[in-house]
Amino acid sequence: MKKVTVLGSTGSIGTQTLDVIRTHPEQFELYALCGGSNAELLKKQLAEFRPKYSAGLVEIDPSDIPAGVSYHAGHDAILEISSDSGTDIFVNGISGFDAFRPLLCSLETGKNVALANKESIVCGHILVNDMTSRHQNRILPVDSEQSAIFQCLETSQHSQVENLLLTASGGRFWKYSREELTLVTVEQAMHHPTWKMGNKITIDSATLFNKGLEIMEASYLFDIPGRDIKVLIHPQSIVHSMVEFCDGTVLANMSNPDMRLPIQYALSYPDRTWSSCTRLDLGMIQNLTFYDAPAEKYPALRMAYDALSVGGTMPTVYNASNEVAVWAFTKKLIRFTDIYDVVDYTLQHHIAQNADSIEAIESADSEGRNSASVYIDKLVRK
Ligand code: MG
Repeated sequence: MKKVTVLGSTGSIGTQTLDVIRTHPEQFELYALCGGSNAELLKKQLAEFRPKYSAGLVEIDPSDIPAGVSYHAGHDAILEISSDSGTDIFVNGISGFDAFRPLLCSLETGKNVALANKESIVCGHILVNDMTSRHQNRILPVDSEQSAIFQCLETSQHSQVENLLLTASGGRFWKYSREELTLVTVEQAMHHPTWKMGNKITIDSATLFNKGLEIMEASYLFDIPGRDIKVLIHPQSIVHSMVEFCDGTVLANMSNPDMRLPIQYALSYPDRTWSSCTRLDLGMIQNLTFYDAPAEKYPALRMAYDALSVGGTMPTVYNASNEVAVWAFTKKLIRFTDIYDVVDYTLQHHIAQNADSIEAIESADSEGRNSASVYIDKLVRK
């Protein structure tokens, strides 16, 4: 029986992780959970799973906490659960840069971390690598593309890899011109054609900033330079990514799009186990299509390659300014295409530093947020 701690239990990854645990009570047991600010859902999760330890961002009435369950509210309580070595594996599905400190705490325990959060790798890969080489533990990627690459790489050597082929659904607007994109509304951007995800990542899929973050994430996770990472638009989201080797062989990882699959693989790794996910029927699907996604055409990709080649704190600023821009877009303060301009402006005004301490990363993160907010203010006053 593997004991699992779920960080970000009330988010999209968290609830799907609990679903995997629910489907496999003979293999996985929930040890602890940390939720966000959805008190109703947290209460339901505590009542159903009765984890020994739990935390969240909201106070819960003691009468709603089941007997034998300990619950504390606040960031310190979340960090405490993230540092509890009584579990066998952590799943970190916290959204945004908030996942970073809990991730470092979990890695410090020496346990493996199934990581869905890309921002903490994009911003803090140096610290994360230091930690995993010190403790000999691993990051098991949960992001579907990274899990696919991870699986394709399992039987080969790093030196034999020629290219990583990251697939992107493209969201709903990948064929739109810049003019058409300026008219995209929040409601349109929140609707993803193939994946069921949180709001922030759904907007990021529509802008392709999600793919930009994944280019950087893949580069750091698998130690492959940006020039060897290519993006292909693949609207069906059946091929989750591919690896091209030095002999021309391409390995692909395929399934119906369902995040419970990469979550389950990270939990059961290195084993595979039965899953309730709908089986892939290629005869029914018939067509899988792929389109080149040149960086010149997609500003989110171009800026990601540029930020990656500068390195240091540049990827942190890419992420921070995008988070602020997405927030402003969802509040209807700026237009869809302004998201690109906010990030572009912020990157242009940042002088990259080494990203080898929490302080350096957090300071770049807040500088990026400030700078993005300044630009958004200018747009709003126009
Ligand atoms: Mg992904």
